[in-house]
Amino acid sequence: MAATLVTTALAACGPAASSGAPSSTLNVVTTTTVFADLISNVGGPYVTVTSLAGKNADVHTFEPKPADIQTVANAKLLVMNGLGLDDWLERAITNGAASGTPLVKLGAGLPNVELLPGEDPGTQNPHLWMNVTYAELYVDEIAAALKSADAAHASQYDSQAATYKVRLATLDASVRARIATIPEANRKLVMFHDAFPYFARAYGITIVGVAVEAPGQDPSAGYTAELITAIKAAGVKAIFSESQFPTNLVDALASETGAKVVANLYDDALGDPPVTSYEALINWDVDQLVAALK
Ligand SMILES: [Zn+2]
Repeated sequence: MAATLVTTALAACGPAASSGAPSSTLNVVTTTTVFADLISNVGGPYVTVTSLAGKNADVHTFEPKPADIQTVANAKLLVMNGLGLDDWLERAITNGAASGTPLVKLGAGLPNVELLPGEDPGTQNPHLWMNVTYAELYVDEIAAALKSADAAHASQYDSQAATYKVRLATLDASVRARIATIPEANRKLVMFHDAFPYFARAYGITIVGVAVEAPGQDPSAGYTAELITAIKAAGVKAIFSESQFPTNLVDALASETGAKVVANLYDDALGDPPVTSYEALINWDVDQLVAALK
């Protein structure tokens, strides 16, 4: 998939945008469109952000092309999640590109965050940003990295991060209020892949199961049979998937259990309008969850 250039001048972000574009910008390269949006909001007109995996991409199984390696080589700052989401960026660096460029792993080392287990023993689930308060911690890390890479605009990065975090705090409160409208007995999720455990922990939802243990891996018949039993036992109303993944597996689960399929959630990547920002992604998903579970 071709790299996606996120033009920060188009983003409605930060008061500094009105003071005219600076003559040169900090070239930041990241792994997903979700992080590109966070970086654009903190960096404003002082950064140019490129996401290697485009909108609607499967970030877990993305493989950088030679042109992506060149994009990485030209970066002044590299931003990824870590925890197994996007380790292909590190492999690209190991293969020769950008070996001296600062690299930030947003999901690794967050203060006072208890990580949840990943699909394989000894791994952690990477999808921390689906809890909006953790996304605020990502913003802190992004601001620190931008200030370190471009000290001349440190005060602008601080003020743009502060403005953005106010919006995210408002978003977090809105998510809580809207989830509270779902009857408590219905606050149960079955997902295509395990992207929502931090969201669920933050907002009081139970994850009954996931259709695949990891994207790109087919579940065993025994695994799927156990999931069907769990869905029936919990009385799950809807099975959720994401637009970038095939629906045959969740369709099969739905026909076995009587649950309906909602196949247009977003988590690892942004999508088509209106899901063109992190805030829009969270708002979209919460709207779908409330509509399907109420
Ligand atoms: Zn994921």
